[in-house]
Amino acid sequence: MSVLAPVLAPGATIGILGGGQLGRMLALAAARIGCKCHVFAPAPDSPAFDVVHRVTHADYADTQALDRFAADVDVVTYEFENVPAETATFLAARVPVLPDPKVLATTQDRLAEKNFVAGLGIRTAPYAAAGAPSELAAALDRIGRPAVLKTRRFGYDGKGQATIDNGTDLAAAWSEVGGQPCIVEAFVPFAREVSVVAARGRDGAVECFDVSENEHRAHILKISRVPADLPETTAHEARRIAEAVADSFAYVGVLAVEMFVLRDGGLLVNEIAPRVHNSGHWTIEACACSQFEQHIRAVAGWPLGDPTRHTDAVMENIIGAEADAWESLAKGGALHLYGKREARLGRKMGHVTRLKPKK
Ligand code: AMP
Repeated sequence: MSVLAPVLAPGATIGILGGGQLGRMLALAAARIGCKCHVFAPAPDSPAFDVVHRVTHADYADTQALDRFAADVDVVTYEFENVPAETATFLAARVPVLPDPKVLATTQDRLAEKNFVAGLGIRTAPYAAAGAPSELAAALDRIGRPAVLKTRRFGYDGKGQATIDNGTDLAAAWSEVGGQPCIVEAFVPFAREVSVVAARGRDGAVECFDVSENEHRAHILKISRVPADLPETTAHEARRIAEAVADSFAYVGVLAVEMFVLRDGGLLVNEIAPRVHNSGHWTIEACACSQFEQHIRAVAGWPLGDPTRHTDAVMENIIGAEADAWESLAKGGALHLYGKREARLGRKMGHVTRLKPKK
């Protein structure tokens, strides 16, 4: 059973599961509109802990800590989609949880997610399930090569993925992704990658931010650009897809839909993120209401803000040791550093957003 959410007044406390940079930026946006945040996260040095009203540093399975957290907050949301489903269900029996935890069951599993998207009549790359190594060859026969092998669960930033070509040793590819149930996806020779960050309010209103064009390096997002270099018909279709996804979940909050743009302008959905998204960080400086404020407004039951973009923007992630150059990075654009002490390889340490007058 879920607890229904009342409209929250300024001064209310929003509980956030997950303590990374997304939680940190959500809390900063919440503070600006007079709400407090309580972050629940397992890591003692979580970046969001620096900027919030209250923290709980505990495991997601710690029911005593979850009980205390639920008693302290007016609504719970997440900044991290791999929160265990049991944690979200436990909390939902005590306090409103938005977006509805049932969304996690779909987006935590690439097979369920692809089936859901296909069920909406929206295209994805051709895919097939491979639950065990013995099923891999048959799945590849259906999909063809080159293909991408992806674990069904817990993949992010290219982790749990292997490309399969004609010469690839299938047993080696299977163990490279950790020997877990997988999907096989056709390799998409995309022209570009884009995403749409959309917000849906409790009243069903949907507001999409402008389509962002994304560049990845070593599977990690490096640059997001707005406007995306797309014909308006394609941009319109991308926003329509994000809206259809948000509506069909009866979603409340911000989500992102990542898509491949084919050379003929066709769009394939790659992934849904049921949370604020790295490709929407530019909205902090380039829009009247950022993706973070939009999410807080939605889960608080407030009207959504105006997502209109008033400048062009390029957001660049600061990854690993690049953060050592913080002094020179501070000279251009709006600098965000997430307060992470250790600059590990591939770790997102911050980002910088550079604005230009709208063309
Ligand atoms: P994902 O974890 O599914 O978002 O994948 C991370 C990145 O790997 C994507 O943003 C793409 O750059 C690349 N990628 C993933 N799947 C495919 C695919 N089927 N074809 C081509 N590139 C892919």
